Amino acid sequence: MRKITGLPGAKGQTIGNILRMKPDSIVVKKEVVDIEAEIHKFRMAQQTYGNELDKLYEETLITLGEDAAAIMKAYKMILFDEEFFKKALKRVQDERISIDYAISEEQKAVSKMFQMINDPYMRERGADIENVCKELITYINGKDPATDQIIYDRDFIVVAEDLSPADTIRIDKKYLRGMITERGGITSHTVILAKTLGIPAVVGATGIMEATENASKIFLNGGEGYAYLDPEDSFIKEYGVIKKRQEKEMELYDKAAIKQAITLDGIPISVCTNSGDMESIEGFREDICDGVGLFRTEFLYMSEKDYPTEEKQYEIYKQMALKTNGKELIIRTLDIGGDKQLDYMNLPSESNPFLGYRAIRICLDRKEIFLTQLRAILRASNYGHVKIMFPMIVTVEELRMAKQMVKTAMTQLEEGNIPYNKEIETGIMIETPASVLISDKLAKEADFFSIGTNDLIQYTTATDRMNDKVQYLYDVCNLSVLKAVYQVIQNGHKAGIKVGMCGEAASDERLTPVWLGFGLDEFSMVPGQIGRIKYILGKLSKKEVEKLAAKVLELDTIHEVKEVLNQNISNLMEK
Ligand code: PEP
Ligand code: MG
Repeated sequence: MRKITGLPGAKGQTIGNILRMKPDSIVVKKEVVDIEAEIHKFRMAQQTYGNELDKLYEETLITLGEDAAAIMKAYKMILFDEEFFKKALKRVQDERISIDYAISEEQKAVSKMFQMINDPYMRERGADIENVCKELITYINGKDPATDQIIYDRDFIVVAEDLSPADTIRIDKKYLRGMITERGGITSHTVILAKTLGIPAVVGATGIMEATENASKIFLNGGEGYAYLDPEDSFIKEYGVIKKRQEKEMELYDKAAIKQAITLDGIPISVCTNSGDMESIEGFREDICDGVGLFRTEFLYMSEKDYPTEEKQYEIYKQMALKTNGKELIIRTLDIGGDKQLDYMNLPSESNPFLGYRAIRICLDRKEIFLTQLRAILRASNYGHVKIMFPMIVTVEELRMAKQMVKTAMTQLEEGNIPYNKEIETGIMIETPASVLISDKLAKEADFFSIGTNDLIQYTTATDRMNDKVQYLYDVCNLSVLKAVYQVIQNGHKAGIKVGMCGEAASDERLTPVWLGFGLDEFSMVPGQIGRIKYILGKLSKKEVEKLAAKVLELDTIHEVKEVLNQNISNLMEK
């Protein structure tokens, strides 16, 4: 039983027969061509592929819904991006080379550029361009991938190098139980589609194509990102028991998701969702949350070639505000820098980007960018319960300056008679030791706090969150982090403001009782975790968890903390 590891794509475990999708065998050659005929071939292929994407869009809309269908639209945009194909067409004209070769070369160059970006979401967009180009080349060579319906009459798991959305849609879903791909990251379209279909997926599983050459069955664990080839009978039996238990748990979580989270002693707790990229905006479910606790705006900037205009930002914030339907929507102002870079911003290269020119520091320096965003957020505040949140605050002065900028943006809108909510709240992320230590002062001037544990852990423990070598130190159970969270909540409450948490630790079930015991008012997380955390909150009594939280703060080591928390959560889940 060989184990292949990859990345967790879509949650769930499954066993099925292997269906390998071999990569297309088209070889592109650098031939001398008739220029006109070559360009005609390109235009025809573009048209046929475009029509096919339209057809897939309509079909997907009916069978899988808007989220999955939107992918076809995104692909069509790439397909008709004249700017992108300009260079390839010019090479055909200048060098008289075949169009498929020119496209393939251009795609490789662009993919290389995307691969160098640190952000996984952007890397996936590079993979999308690659998929579109590959399919287009198939059409240019007179093949029609649309006719290659993949039909199988038993439970099967697709094994592929990568899957384009069109590939995924063409697969007959009746017996499809899971997907595993060599390439692709956790935000790839394979993952989005798998989630839409409700089946497990493992991505980035290097070597899976070769390893499955002679295998017939495969087990996938999508939540943890690994697979077993040809699992033994005893494993299959054991898996049957686990699967039944998991299905039961999932039912409980789904039920909890659509209800208000209430502790055993009757205290309602706010559970919100994190959002920001187009997919999460389109797929937003108001029925499972109390609002959006963190709306990351940098995706909006990262998907553009230049600064998004006020109008464009306003439209997106407004769309989100309308979707939240009167529930809270916390829009975080631009948090660029650190691991997130933007070409058009021409940010200086730094030896220590996480400690450098980042987030609010950039916004307070490049005021026009900040004001444009603030005006867009303020205008959207007319359509919902919008709040503004500043990232990376480390001094009271920064908060005052940021609030002053909000006032300036308000004045500008008033001059143009543009309406906005004058009572809009402004809060801050607490994600640095500096902001923890002066949280008593900051609490007097901020309307709310949201603890960003992703950064707070890295800055408190001096451990780069992107550096694999030191990940063993990046631990939320370090008492320095727990004490920091406790202190922030205490100081927030003393000043009468609400304290939420929007870092990944908000959905760490081991710590749910501790956060509640510390008095956290709001948990914000990716939508997929909401049901489980609401379910756990419903099993806790505030009085009891306060005792547990106090006990944890008295411990000395990470190991001790984990021991107590693991024991506690397994007792709780058995109840
Ligand atoms: C955080 O730091 O916890 C956070 C939510 O912000 P980001 O992950 O976007 O830096
Ligand atoms: Mg952060």
